[in-house]
Order: sequence, then C-alpha cells, then structure tokens
Amino acid sequence: MKKRIIFFVLVISFLWLISGISGESEFIIHLDETIKATDIFTLVNTLASPQYEGRLTGTAGYDKAVQMAADYFKQYGIRPIDGMETYTQLFPVSYTKVYESKLTLHVKDKNGKEEVLQCQYFKDYYPMNFSGSGNITGEIVFAGFGITAPEFEYDDYIGIDVKGKIAMIIKGAPKEKEGEDWSAYDDHRFRTKNALKHGAAGLLYIYSARGNPNGAYLEGFPMLAIEEKLADRILEKYRKNVKSLTEHLKQRHRNSFATDQTAELTVRSENFQGNGANVVGYIPGSDELLRNEFIVVGAHLDHCGMWPQLTPGADDNASGSAALLTIARALGTSKYQPKRSVLFALFGGEEMGLLGSTYLVSHLPEKVKKINFVFNLDMVGEGPDVFILRLKNYPEMEKIIMETPRKLNLNCHITGNEITEKGRGGSDHAPFVEKRIPAVSVFSAGSKHMGYHKADDSIYWITPKIMEDIAKIISYTVMRMAAD
Ligand SMILES: [Zn+2]
Repeated sequence: MKKRIIFFVLVISFLWLISGISGESEFIIHLDETIKATDIFTLVNTLASPQYEGRLTGTAGYDKAVQMAADYFKQYGIRPIDGMETYTQLFPVSYTKVYESKLTLHVKDKNGKEEVLQCQYFKDYYPMNFSGSGNITGEIVFAGFGITAPEFEYDDYIGIDVKGKIAMIIKGAPKEKEGEDWSAYDDHRFRTKNALKHGAAGLLYIYSARGNPNGAYLEGFPMLAIEEKLADRILEKYRKNVKSLTEHLKQRHRNSFATDQTAELTVRSENFQGNGANVVGYIPGSDELLRNEFIVVGAHLDHCGMWPQLTPGADDNASGSAALLTIARALGTSKYQPKRSVLFALFGGEEMGLLGSTYLVSHLPEKVKKINFVFNLDMVGEGPDVFILRLKNYPEMEKIIMETPRKLNLNCHITGNEITEKGRGGSDHAPFVEKRIPAVSVFSAGSKHMGYHKADDSIYWITPKIMEDIAKIISYTVMRMAAD
C-alpha cells in the first residue's frame, strides 16, 4: 500500500516537471506572500472613495485612478509596451456630468384621486448619466418599447402624439420571428434618439433607477430612468402595469396611449468631449519565440461617476481593478519568468458600452502578435465563490482552473457556463471574443451584488477573502498558461 502511494506521488511530480511551472511550490509560497485580502481591500477602499468621484471615464476622478494604477505598474516592474510611451492608451470619449435632477409626479388613481409624488434618487428614479438639460412639465404618453422599425412594419409611435410631451417607454423589443434581428432597436441609444425624433420634450425610461452612462448625450433632452413600481403608479388608473404591457408588446399588440398623468422633470447637466484611457503594461516572456504570444489579464477601472450622487463602484469594479493590480504585483515581483508574455489591461469606458476594451482590440500594440487567452475580472468583490462566464467553452483552461482551489488550499467553489450564441456580452471579454480571441469573464458568486450601480455598491458589502482567492487563482492559472 505504502509503495503504491509513493509511486503515485512520483508520477504526479514527474508530470509537473514536464507540463507545469518549474519551482511550483516556491511560486505558490510567493503567491501567499504577495496576495493578501487586506491589501486588496485597502486598494478597493481607495478607489471607491469620494476623491475618485466614482471614476466616470473622462473625468478628473477617473484620471486619478489611471495615474494610481500606472504608478503601481511601475513599482511592480510591469513594463510599458514598446511603441507606447507610457502605460496609458487614450481614446476619445463623450461624458456627461449631471449636476442636479428632480422628478415630481401628479398621478390620479383609478378613482380619479390625485396625489403628488416627490420622487427620490435610486429609490424611484435616477437621471440617465447621458441626459441633456431641461425643465419640462407635461403629460406622460406611453410609447411601448419606443421602437420604429419600418422593415418589420412596427412603430410604437403610431396613433400617439408625443410632441412637447413626456414619452414613457419600456426596455425590450417584440419577440423575434425566424430570420429577424431586433438588436439594433433594443438599444438605449436608438430608443432615446427615436423619442427625441418624434418630438418628445423629455423621457421616462422604465429601466432601473441606477447609474448608467451607456448612452448618447442629447442636447436639451432630459432623460430619467424610473423604477417599474413608479411606472405602475402612473398606469394604475388604467388597471395596467409594466409586466402585462411588456407581455402584450412582446406579442406585437400595439399599446401606446396618452396617460392623462403629469410629470415635472428637471435635469441640469453638462456634456464634455475628452479622453478615456486604458492602462496597459506587460511582463515579457523568456522564450524568444513564445514571447510574441500573450495571456491577458483585464478589468475595467471605470464606473458611473458622482453626478448627481456618488456611485462608489466598490464591487463594480474597484474589486476587479484591485485584484488585477495585486496579480500584477505577484507576477511582476516573482523570480519566475514565464515563457509567454503576460499583458495587464485596465479598461476605461466599460460602463459606456465596452469602449476601452473595444479600442484596445482594434489598436493592439505591435508587439502583441497573438493573444492566447483573456481573463477579464468584473465584480469579484462579494460572496464566497467564483463564477466564470464562458468557462466551459475552453476545456483545457477549465481543467487547470478547477484544480486551483485544492492546489492553493482555498475554500471557494468555481462554477461556469458555456456561451455559444453571438452578440455582445455584458463585460470586456466580448470585444475579444468578437475577434475570435478566447476570453472569459470572472465574477465572484454567492451574493446578490445588491448595490449594483447604486450608492450602496460600497466597501461595506465587500468580502475581502474572495478577492484574495480570485487573485491567487488567476495568478496561478495565467502562469501555468504562460509557462508551457
Ligand atoms: Zn462592471
């Protein structure tokens, strides 16, 4: 029996010599020494603090985060990529500061009794982070999905007049029939422009009262996101609600009507044209040929800003940014040099629609001849476990990563899924996948990410241990993939 165990151990260590990281146990000790929950938490606490202004891309608060990340890259021995003078890769960006906003509703219930509702930030409504300025009191006209699609003979604006009034619309699109693609219409940018084009003076978008800079600024056109519950108050008079209307609309039953309810909405905002930035650096591979191949670790550094109220974005995505900086520290200060190169990229403009990652994949530094794999970290700060989007698309990587909790002595569970359909995903892996580069997004799991895009996404929900686990898992897996 004893002999068999010894034989087994010998076989395992032999396998490691041919396919693993040489000096693996030393490397794991190095990970334990350089990746600490308290250090990662301190970084999250800094990035989520008011001096970084919620890190809206283009603003001074975001630039400050960029500078901080670049300073750490330098300190950890991460190099700027040749051809880029610094760690920053700039791209054009339009961003909006919303200085103040207000929503008052005058709603009648089904008995005709009128009530005045002073609505509250985050609870009832939130100004869209790309809203134009304006003050308008007017009738609310419900305009379905707010879609005009001539090729599908569909128009939510037929039979209603929104001119000078406040359009109220729902997210979504009719159920697709064979051969149809509504994705161009099921889009904030299209929907908001379409409301303005039809003469609306303001917009109530039944979405979710959260920060959201993913849209186009429209001069003089105030736009507020409102919670479904608030929209239901407006519709109650007609014994209708958002849920039933959405079902009808999905079946293409036209459902636009003047509500005979009044809203007063105010937004004071200012739009700027500026620069967004990715922070990019790398560890060169030791092998003359393999160093042209890169393993990428990415995370978005930006969030929704502080206009008009701070969204700290501790989980989304100070957590991923802090984990990335810690991985850069662990790998950058390790004695072990991988054969392939490792690229670190903190993306800007993710919340505006994956701007930074889209820019990087189409403007890759010349040195980056091939990207073998991308690990994107997004919202890794809450809960005990790990979820990896697209994990099962890549069985070889899955095999390595599933071994890590045991190997690194961690208690977290890793789960993942497979995604085969096309279309843009919700995070920075998507632009890489579109270019046929293997990519996954890593999230923490086992919590509800309750504060998502709200003032509640604060350090008080953060579980530091999971960030440490994820930083270790990714450091180890990246090194394994860069080593062979
Ligand atoms: Zn995010």
